[in-house]
Amino acid sequence: MPELPEVETTRRGISPHLVGQRVSRVIVRDRRLRWPIPEDLDVRLSGQTIVQVNRRAKYLLIEAEVGTLISHLGMSGNLRLVEAGLPALKHEHVDIELESGLALRYTDPRRFGAMLWSLDPLNHELLIRLGPEPLTELFDGLRLFELSRGRSMAVKPFIMDNAVVVGVGNIYATEALFAAGIDPRREAGSISKARYVKLAMEIKRILAHAIERGGTTLRDFIGGDGQPGYFQQELFAYGRGEEPCKVCGTTLREVKLGQRASVYCPKCQK
Ligand SMILES: [Zn+2]
Repeated sequence: MPELPEVETTRRGISPHLVGQRVSRVIVRDRRLRWPIPEDLDVRLSGQTIVQVNRRAKYLLIEAEVGTLISHLGMSGNLRLVEAGLPALKHEHVDIELESGLALRYTDPRRFGAMLWSLDPLNHELLIRLGPEPLTELFDGLRLFELSRGRSMAVKPFIMDNAVVVGVGNIYATEALFAAGIDPRREAGSISKARYVKLAMEIKRILAHAIERGGTTLRDFIGGDGQPGYFQQELFAYGRGEEPCKVCGTTLREVKLGQRASVYCPKCQK
């Protein structure tokens, strides 16, 4: 599943090909994504110039002169640039053709993604209740400490809650808790301020590193498969249940927390 670094890598990869370009037409082959693609998307977007490509949480915001295309990659979506008119394969649901002769092509085999239109995207119902971006000053250890007081839920689902902070998916939550030495099962409300300061720093460091590494795959956005570098970073815990800890050699354990597999080291994480 594309997580925040992959979405940011996508934004950086597609943006130079979109900004300043006029849309010549929008071809929708299948409207059935998580929500139906608006019937009038072609009418709304064609003839307009793309002004900016932004990101909020895992939503890409492709801003035209009037209105914004809100896109989410869901479980299996990707966006890449192809030559306009290149025959579409199965699952290649949308082409946004540009005057440059390229087209932004949306592919999504499982169709859990989204492509919606809004005149006021930050106040759209999908975005308005989102917590702060993890790589901004609005997110820090003090916020985690204050929001967690009195909460008995485990710390891992707590930091994965979009109202607390956006973009901390399973991989990054698992790795940040490992790096901060915090047992993912601990009650969120029982963790000290100092440990939350460390955890927030590790979340920022790991996400920033993943985005930096994703930058090395930008060449894939034209003609390639549009899949940014998912697991390029070294993983200490995620996906390593029953393997030895890279720090202390203890066998890593796997538990389910909030329906998600959670791997941790019983010696390094307390
Ligand atoms: Zn260990």
